[in-house]
Amino acid sequence: MIEPERLDHFMARANAAYYASHDPFADFTTAPEISQVFGELLGAWAASVWAQMGAPDPVLLIEAGPGRGTLMADALRTVARVAPDFAAALRVHLIETSPRLRAEQAARLPSAMWHDRLEDVPAGPAIVLANEFLDALPIRQFEHVAGAWAERHVAGGRFVALPCAHASDAAPDGAVLELGEAALAWMASLAARLVREGGAALILDYGFTQAQYGDTLQALRHGRPVSPLVEAGTADLTAHVDFAALAATARAKGATVWGPVAQGDFLRALGLEARVERLAALHPARAAALVAGADRLASPAQMGALFKVLAVTGSRIMPPGF
Ligand code: SAH
Repeated sequence: MIEPERLDHFMARANAAYYASHDPFADFTTAPEISQVFGELLGAWAASVWAQMGAPDPVLLIEAGPGRGTLMADALRTVARVAPDFAAALRVHLIETSPRLRAEQAARLPSAMWHDRLEDVPAGPAIVLANEFLDALPIRQFEHVAGAWAERHVAGGRFVALPCAHASDAAPDGAVLELGEAALAWMASLAARLVREGGAALILDYGFTQAQYGDTLQALRHGRPVSPLVEAGTADLTAHVDFAALAATARAKGATVWGPVAQGDFLRALGLEARVERLAALHPARAAALVAGADRLASPAQMGALFKVLAVTGSRIMPPGF
């Protein structure tokens, strides 16, 4: 008899095992790995926000779930060029639980400090970046069966829906409700910190802007979908991010929310085309690849519309791109 495990517990265990033992970038590609321009534009964004914060020195530049460290390395290169004062003032703090990825990040970002959780990062004004971080945090799922909600558990590679206290409502039978409790708790903590200490955060991820029913849990292996429930720890489990709920959570903590806007619109507003043209002129042999990479990030048919960007500010800042 296999004890059913609540989906969020299963997902937390599966992802911790996966990130500790696998190279995630063999299974999926993220924006900073597609184009250096992504991190460069985010570096310029951070520099602009820092100036609006009154140029605090020191300032924490925090990234959650930095993967290979590519985004931060690209951002720092741009910051050193366009805002040397900011470059001198910033201290890089990375939130990463995977020892394997910490080692990769250290190769690119030797002066960074590492933490397991946002709550462990020292106090002070901060600029926070998170790309494809929240989609990897565990979710709960509820299924509407015979007029009542039941909570999805995992047993023997299959879902088992067990009775639960979630109040019944008019949802159609078969509807699936997702609750990204871990992402919301993270946002509550982030927003409270920004209000208390000052600063701004930029969250980029795929997801929806209005709550909706549906099962968005997915697993990718070598770029192909596989069953999320079998062989915990062999594929990365992700779910769509509920940006409406994130925004409401940040506001409830007294922070100001910007967006969400589509990633394509955001990157174009930050000067994607001009940056690509300049790089292409400097490196003609790479021009076609640079244009193709930018298109993948910004075109609505690719990542430009599914991916959304949300900014959260705790002080008087008008973040660019919104
Ligand atoms: N931002 C990177 C990587 C995205 S993959 C990029 O865009 O390429 C997700 C990242 O979040 C990985 O670095 C993974 O190890 C980290 N991560 C996943 N769950 C985490 C958790 N609960 N706490 C801290 N980091 C986590």
